Amino acid sequence: MSIPPDIGTIAGPPTWVDGAAGGGHDVDHLPYAVFSHGGDDPRVGVRVGDLVVDLAPLAASERDQHGELVRATSLAPLMRAGPRSWRSLRGWLVDLLTDPDRRPGVEPHLVPLAEVTTGLPFEVADYVDFYASLDHATNVGRIFRPDAQPLLPNWRHLPVGYHGRAGTIVVSGTPVVRPCGQRKAPDASGPTYGPSQRLDIEAELGFVVGAPSPAGSRVRTGAFVEHVFGVTLLNDWSARDVQAWEYQPLGPFLGKSFATSISPWITPLAALEAARVPLPGQQPQVLEHLRVAEPAGYDIEIQVRWNGTEVARAPYAAMYWSPAQMLAHLTSNGSSLRTGDLFGSGTVSGPDRSQRGSFLELTWGGSEPVRLADGSLRTFLEDGDEVVLTATAPGRLGGRLALGEVRGRVEPARG
Ligand code: CA
Repeated sequence: MSIPPDIGTIAGPPTWVDGAAGGGHDVDHLPYAVFSHGGDDPRVGVRVGDLVVDLAPLAASERDQHGELVRATSLAPLMRAGPRSWRSLRGWLVDLLTDPDRRPGVEPHLVPLAEVTTGLPFEVADYVDFYASLDHATNVGRIFRPDAQPLLPNWRHLPVGYHGRAGTIVVSGTPVVRPCGQRKAPDASGPTYGPSQRLDIEAELGFVVGAPSPAGSRVRTGAFVEHVFGVTLLNDWSARDVQAWEYQPLGPFLGKSFATSISPWITPLAALEAARVPLPGQQPQVLEHLRVAEPAGYDIEIQVRWNGTEVARAPYAAMYWSPAQMLAHLTSNGSSLRTGDLFGSGTVSGPDRSQRGSFLELTWGGSEPVRLADGSLRTFLEDGDEVVLTATAPGRLGGRLALGEVRGRVEPARG
């Protein structure tokens, strides 16, 4: 399949949208969301500057072919339509937002961002989370299994992952109730049940599958861009005490499944073309079906704020496994893909302490507290704490794209 070039990648005239040129939401970004305004039904929008383009009425007024893709309360019809439609819609939007002659036709369909509310942008089908950072996997291995090799023998041969819970994925802003569970301290004689005492975050990217694939087929690494619609920020809330007791031998379960937060805004994969960078390097060489053409990584930096204090900047460019390899691995047994499948990158961590994307690593299992701007010390999350993830990536037009934030506040456990 040949895909037409992304029109947004060609430097053209600047946008006429006030305040948008050169910022995080110039026409080289154009993330999608489902929004509502003034009590209206939820509908598909695209952000430019501090405005949301109301796509369905705009397409109707222009008698445009893309109307059927955006006349919905979910991104699913657009996601399912595949890469030709994604590129064509993006090209149409860039034309509209850069041609001054089109401005009078578009302006009636612009809504101030501050006046809209956003929800989950699509129904999550299956949710899988990987473990693709060498630094994160090494740190966690050292903390959880201090007397053993940090990496298990399979780690450099396949992107390790587990199936998470699609039904508890929530949109940014949704409060997170402290989970209860079973946990056992190393020196305790037996487990107890109660509120998690080691509630944590994991700063990740989430990759959103648009175009499905049939059962029995494989999605090769080179077909990544034909299936993945876009990228969201993802916070994989994690109860470390529950996780540490339950995870062997079948992996994370209740320590993760209570909530996973994503941004309402989905950055199109095409917008991240300028952010592509080579992987840091894979040794030993992976099997043929996981080999990938470079550049396969993405230069996306995630900022982690804890009650307003920036505590980490996690570099996605440092990840060992690329998302194309994760998708190829996910389907390497012939498993089908469905529109709305979501796969997480795993915690993004780099080699430096300031680059660790979880509090487990930042505080080294709770032994090295972090000081916040108000002078307080933290190891794990306390009730009332708020965590905000934001991220930036280089765009085609010289600025940095600002990916949609993920925000969540911890509420006390309920009986
Ligand atoms: Ca995770």
